[in-house]
Amino acid sequence: MKYEKNDIVVIRIEDMGTGGEGIGKADGFPFFVKDALIGDTVEARVTKVKQNYGYARMEKVIAPSSFRVEPVCPFHRQCGGCQLQALSYEKQLEYKQKKVNDVLVRIGGFSGETIGRIMEPIVGMESGFHYRNKAQFPIGTDKNGNPVAGFYAGRTHSIIANTDCALGVPENRQILEIVLAYMREYHVPAYDEKAGTGLVRHVLIRKGFATGELMVCLVINGKKLPAAERLIAALAAVPNMTSVSYSVNEKNTNVIMGGQIVLLWGKERIADRIGDITFSISPLSFYQVNPVQTEKLYGLAAEFADLKGNETVWDLYCGIGTISLFLAGKAGQVYGVEVVPQAVVDARDNAARNGIENASFFVGKAEEVLPEKYRREGITADVIVVDPPRKGCDARCLATMLQMRPEKIVYVSCDCATLARDLKVLCAGGYEPERARAVDMFPMTGHVECVVLMSKVQK
Ligand code: SAH
Repeated sequence: MKYEKNDIVVIRIEDMGTGGEGIGKADGFPFFVKDALIGDTVEARVTKVKQNYGYARMEKVIAPSSFRVEPVCPFHRQCGGCQLQALSYEKQLEYKQKKVNDVLVRIGGFSGETIGRIMEPIVGMESGFHYRNKAQFPIGTDKNGNPVAGFYAGRTHSIIANTDCALGVPENRQILEIVLAYMREYHVPAYDEKAGTGLVRHVLIRKGFATGELMVCLVINGKKLPAAERLIAALAAVPNMTSVSYSVNEKNTNVIMGGQIVLLWGKERIADRIGDITFSISPLSFYQVNPVQTEKLYGLAAEFADLKGNETVWDLYCGIGTISLFLAGKAGQVYGVEVVPQAVVDARDNAARNGIENASFFVGKAEEVLPEKYRREGITADVIVVDPPRKGCDARCLATMLQMRPEKIVYVSCDCATLARDLKVLCAGGYEPERARAVDMFPMTGHVECVVLMSKVQK
């Protein structure tokens, strides 16, 4: 083996990988270099060597890339949250666009010419900061025994104390400082994951961007919060505070929230709007974290679906019915399918709240519900929208979609590799790509969202 762990290598970074890591060669041997940017020449420490490539971590920038910018957050390298903060936002968008295009060619088997025809320019944000409406801060104890709130260092569970995440809302800091002051004053211990002792595990903060409403939920390893009235008084004084609660989680698990929510003050839920639709959000609800870009993404899905008013539309992997409700006003009937029962309760509730009567929701796996409704009940589809998790659509789901032969399939994806794989199946089944567009839902990270319109090939 040419290189060993802890070797120092000098590398010029020529490309960036799917996770935002720099790619370059040392003496012809390729390395993935964490924190190095395209255009940099860096000194890096080798962390792992495989047969044909290796991993390294940047130690020093020797010659900076012209795309390097001063990162806003001093913890951007240690924290697992942002991978691209040191890259100019313009270049981040270019990187994401290229990543999507390349994957569609490499995995989807599309020609560069097809991509050139269907792909519209990536939808970016005005500012790539402070876009998240939700944050879950882990709580721990520092060397001096003081409670701290922050984020996990990449791939670990050690907490970097930082109450002012650059992706979150400015209110996070004020709220966390209140919680930490309360913990200090009333000797409320932070949870210790290893020992299973202590009380406060996480603080969940959510903000409705359209309404300004704020929600705080402490996740605790116990059934009660001592001196809760003191905490409540301080939190209730934060402008726009709407909901203060705690969630009981006494399990030794990586799952953050417990099942039970105990309301301490205010309302159980906060409200938010995307487009004209109002959503009611509980601490446990799934809700898109970047509402500004979500509206643009759903707007594109609606534009691609191009409904005339009487279509039957399926929204598979519908979550709390966001896309279903967004499309219902222009459709004849919408059917949503979602595997998490509570999300379906939220979806029905949100439909009623908005006076939408032509949307029905089914609990179950898309790959089971869709075939059943199609074969047993003969329900058809003019348009099918899918928005699956990273692993993409199940093969049985795709097979049923192809049997149903809707005019259009709108594929919303948070992982372009599985998107490309699934589009290939749809193409083989008689569909062709017509329009595609990437949306930057998660600036400063390597993630990118896509929406693709597939049309039935007319025979
Ligand atoms: N369209 C929604 C949610 C998308 S996230 C929105 O934009 O808000 C993907 C959703 O798919 C999650 O809610 C997840 O619970 C759900 N899911 C995961 N696997 C599923 C399956 N096999 N069948 C149906 N839903 C599934």
